[in-house]
Amino acid sequence: MDKNFRHAMNKLLKNRYRESPEQRVLNSYDAMNRMILPDGVAEPLTEEEVVSIIKICTEFKVPIVPRGAGCGFSGGALAMRGGLSLNLSRMNDISIDRDNLVAEVGPGAITIDIHKAAEAVNLLYPPDPASMAVSTIGGNIAENAGGPRAAKYGVTKEYVLALRVAQMDGSISTFGKPLRKDVAGYNLTPLFVGSEGTLGIITRAWLKLVPKPEASLSSMLAFSTALDASHAISSIVAAGLNPSRLEIMDSFCIQSLKEADHRIEGSPGAILMVEVDGPATALPEQLDHIREVASHHNLLTFHRAQNEKKNESIWELRRSLSPIINSFGDTKMNEDVVVPRSRIPDLFSFVEALRRETGLTIVCFGHAGDGNIHVNVMYDKDTPGIGEKVEETLHRLFEKVVGMGGSISGEHGIGIAKQRFMRHQFSETQLTLMRNIKQLFDPLNLLNPGKILPEPEKKE
Ligand SMILES: Cc1cc2nc3c(=O)[nH]c(=O)nc-3n(C[C@H](O)[C@H](O)[C@H](O)COP(=O)(O)OP(=O)(O)OC[C@H]3O[C@@H](n4cnc5c(N)ncnc54)[C@H](O)[C@@H]3O)c2cc1C
Repeated sequence: MDKNFRHAMNKLLKNRYRESPEQRVLNSYDAMNRMILPDGVAEPLTEEEVVSIIKICTEFKVPIVPRGAGCGFSGGALAMRGGLSLNLSRMNDISIDRDNLVAEVGPGAITIDIHKAAEAVNLLYPPDPASMAVSTIGGNIAENAGGPRAAKYGVTKEYVLALRVAQMDGSISTFGKPLRKDVAGYNLTPLFVGSEGTLGIITRAWLKLVPKPEASLSSMLAFSTALDASHAISSIVAAGLNPSRLEIMDSFCIQSLKEADHRIEGSPGAILMVEVDGPATALPEQLDHIREVASHHNLLTFHRAQNEKKNESIWELRRSLSPIINSFGDTKMNEDVVVPRSRIPDLFSFVEALRRETGLTIVCFGHAGDGNIHVNVMYDKDTPGIGEKVEETLHRLFEKVVGMGGSISGEHGIGIAKQRFMRHQFSETQLTLMRNIKQLFDPLNLLNPGKILPEPEKKE
């Protein structure tokens, strides 16, 4: 870094600005498994410090890359053009307004700590990404994170009432208000949700809470094939049943779990994990109804959790899936496509055809309740010709998904991982509009540059 820049940062943050190799390495990666070293790391404690950092970076034309816990899957927190990693994890205060059912949080608050604070006063913050034990709310908002409970409760955007955002012109604004209703002016709050740290730096958030359901009850339903399970999902949704969590895992996931010594009866082709919540006395009947609907789709076994501990162990099993499938290859292309829930069977049929035609190992699991399926292409990177084959397969997948009325990303975001696929979903006109919005908020292109938007098409 330029020595005058270093001097200004040291003066502002003292030992919370660092350029040591250790700090740079610690802030160089996310769950995408790529490592790009930032030139320096800043750890602000207040939004005033964030604003001062923006002003210094603007003066010295240093890119700023906001960072929470660095567990994103799309490379959003990587310093692709060098510059400063702005680690917001120390701004992690949480307070609960019980009277108004609102949580006020710093961007570095860990998701599970918000859950605990809400539950301590019998409230619920529903979004529950599988990474919630480490992810920050700033990262959740910037990626519009979802989780199993999205089936009933929706994703992060449904819970963001207001945001304070530090902008690249050195100003700081509050967008929205912690109110249940507010239609004054353009609604800019949602623009920042899912903007992947490219439009502004979230320094505070007000989140909607809901009353905690009295009880929840979970079950595991095993099916002959993934197609049977996916038809069962469509039937459950079409029957108007409203599970609070509804997740699927295919036979590859089941194999991995067995290899890791988890007890799973028989050799089913897929398992659905289903939770219902509400008044305790109503739950067994709700699960019976789900079981009855599923029984029309080659249901092999139905297992209901017998106590709270067993209930939670089903969801621990689900959270373990992402790392556990790494045994299928040294490289994972972890896609998070979404289709209308009625098209989930078509997606599973298409993935099966891709497996047959390409010989690739494609592992599927995820948020069946909201149509968001993790399609993981697993391979060893040293296999000759594998890169091109995987790339072509992904293009076919995204083309199909968008053709079904779906989206190339349900929760991981675009970052650097999916920029090259954006044209499957967006026209050049739409991309230009997005570039113009970016330009408005960040005219010098210093905030998380090189993310989301592909380069404009070159005119002849
Ligand atoms: C095992 C595993 C399971 C996962 N399961 C899920 C899941 O179920 N659902 C899901 O949605 N995701 C999941 N993820 C992905 C990831 O956890 C989420 O994207 C999460 O929101 C990232 O949070 P983070 O704090 O780590 O953000 P980071 O990775 O640090 O950053 C992510 C993006 O947010 C931006 N950002 C961070 N903080 C701010 C801020 N204050 N202001 C502006 N921009 C900011 C960064 O610049 C970057 O673009 C999973 C990841 C792993 C490793």
